[in-house]
Amino acid sequence: MNKGDQAAEGTSARASGGASGPGLAELAGDHAQMRAALDGADAATLLLVLVQFTGDHDLLGRARPFIAGPMNYHETMPEVLRAEIRDRLTAILIECAEGKRPLPPIPEGDALRAMLSTAAGEDVSEDYTAMMREDLDLAEPDPRDMVWHTLPAPARLEQFPVVIIGGGMSGVCAAIRLKEAGLPFTVIEKNPAVGGSWYENFYPGCGVDTPNHFYSYSFFPNHDWSHFFAKRDELWTYFEDAADHYGIRDHIQFGTEVISAIWSDSDSDWTLTLRRAGGTEEQIKAKAVISAVGVLNRPKLPDIAGRDSFAGKALHTAQWDNDFDWRGKRVGMIGTGASGQQVGPTIAPDVASLTIFQRSPHWVVPNPNYFAEVSDGMKWALAHIPFFARWYRFQLFWAFADGLHASLKVDPNWDDGGKSINAKNARHREYMVRYLRSKLGGNSPLLDKVTPTYPPYGKRILIDNNWFETLQRGNVDLETGRIARIVPEGIETEDGRRIELDAIIYATGFQASKVLAPMTIRGVGGKDLHDFWGPDDATAYLGTMVPGFPNFFMLMGPNTGLAHGGNVIFITECQVRFIMAALRTVIEQDAHSADVRPEVHAAHVREVDALHAGMVWTHKGLTNWYRNDQGRVFALLPYRLVDYWKMTRTFVPEEYTIA
Ligand code: NAP
Repeated sequence: MNKGDQAAEGTSARASGGASGPGLAELAGDHAQMRAALDGADAATLLLVLVQFTGDHDLLGRARPFIAGPMNYHETMPEVLRAEIRDRLTAILIECAEGKRPLPPIPEGDALRAMLSTAAGEDVSEDYTAMMREDLDLAEPDPRDMVWHTLPAPARLEQFPVVIIGGGMSGVCAAIRLKEAGLPFTVIEKNPAVGGSWYENFYPGCGVDTPNHFYSYSFFPNHDWSHFFAKRDELWTYFEDAADHYGIRDHIQFGTEVISAIWSDSDSDWTLTLRRAGGTEEQIKAKAVISAVGVLNRPKLPDIAGRDSFAGKALHTAQWDNDFDWRGKRVGMIGTGASGQQVGPTIAPDVASLTIFQRSPHWVVPNPNYFAEVSDGMKWALAHIPFFARWYRFQLFWAFADGLHASLKVDPNWDDGGKSINAKNARHREYMVRYLRSKLGGNSPLLDKVTPTYPPYGKRILIDNNWFETLQRGNVDLETGRIARIVPEGIETEDGRRIELDAIIYATGFQASKVLAPMTIRGVGGKDLHDFWGPDDATAYLGTMVPGFPNFFMLMGPNTGLAHGGNVIFITECQVRFIMAALRTVIEQDAHSADVRPEVHAAHVREVDALHAGMVWTHKGLTNWYRNDQGRVFALLPYRLVDYWKMTRTFVPEEYTIA
């Protein structure tokens, strides 16, 4: 049993709380209760568990036509089939609970692929079987853990201190793995708490739009998420709990910023200059540095004339002020991206007026679970039915990540005047247009304003947070005229109107292209990382390593972001696994450092750029925050998640100078 499932069985405070109810063993012999427990659980996921236990592929065939793949992932199995699945699985789980039936083996080859295809609602290539086999492996150690080939002497480990810059989601993940490996490490965190973005962002309505049973560490499942899409407080608590559960907190220096990291060619180590909250500076040494500073943490204020002249309250979503009371105020909000579409609907009922300044619309999709609470039955199933949480995670993986990937790739033979980029993408567009027409009505004057002219996924796709209802409120105006200037009284548009306001909310995003700013990073021979990159053109091998910067690793580095859904925690876990393999190689070879070869880095960047040239984000005329001033996509991963999993699964020593 791996760590996650130990938690599931109730060895952690997290998993034993909530509405998980009696465990599997407690229901031994109680057929009625077991059957009742299964009633609230997702039938498609129960089906996969049942097939894993029975090998009954006829059942797969019977269910398959009723499970639809992305974009509108759902199942419509007849009730009689759902009941059959629940009845048969009840009998099996009773046997398990009574110790009369062992856990089934992990399916292999075509059998596994058939199960994955049913889970996905469409054909899944064999690429996914190895990844899923790993995920279904409940044995200790977790196959994703780093295991030493030869356990180094304690002194060797002590001589290899690692510094992690940042204690957000990715920094905590790296810290957990370093601790498990027995390496000494320190986390430097500028805030007084862990959680990164989930600590810093607390604007009204702040939450996640990747479902939480996927958007969580694979090794630290939370079977008690209150909602499928949790809000900020619950997410922040989750990362706090992870830090506590794995004993990370004692390793964190809070209220401290890293100013610079300088490599010493003679000592083969890094010297980091830190600035404490009081302003004092000091230095620490590290053999390796893991930058876990995130991507979206420096707010971007728009360059609008007169911005500072506004006499009312002005605030950016990422620098919210809890003392700001929007009730009864005339509020203007600039920006309609992920942050704006969470703030707007949340405050609209209480403001006197809300004027939303939209420069360009986003595509918005509905999700039936977006506001839904997780039922007790589902929580019970996640916590207690063997493999259930893993199969459910794969369904989410497909529906929110790799299942959408084909719709991102330009078909050179597809031409519908630039509205979409391939047949699948066009179907997604039709679905989203149908949806917004259903929300606004076919004759609404808002239709033209909110229907993007660019293909779906060109900007980050958003889940409908009552956006269209909000736009139709009597006290809400969608302003699509260009902003001319900000004046003390409010905002003036280019067509000469003045909109008087008490407050302006900037939902205008982040300075994403200034990767690792404002730190100074100097590698071999004093090479400056920002000189190497230029002002806004960050690159890295696998988004993680840059030639000339030995043992310097980036989490969520260049070209690892996801815009079609996805899950940045998955990417982070892949990167941490890769970094741990790199450190193992260096330490076991009794070397000092690994430095990616320039030609390996260059080839990777060429491949990334070539792939992006054929993807939706470089669509003609489209603007998004993923590209730099030269139009190069620096932010996003062009690969499927399964590809990235494969690319980061092993560390190939020949690709590095190991010295
Ligand atoms: P964003 O996606 O960059 O959106 C910024 C918005 O401000 C856009 O609508 C943009 O218009 C507008 N804007 C920027 N400058 C402007 C100007 N000078 N005049 C008028 N409008 C201007 O920022 P965000 O909403 O904060 O989201 C950033 C990223 O954070 C997301 O892509 C996502 O990755 C993440 N995020 C996720 C969640 C979630 O999970 N729910 C929530 C918040 C943020 P244009 O589109 O025309 O540029």
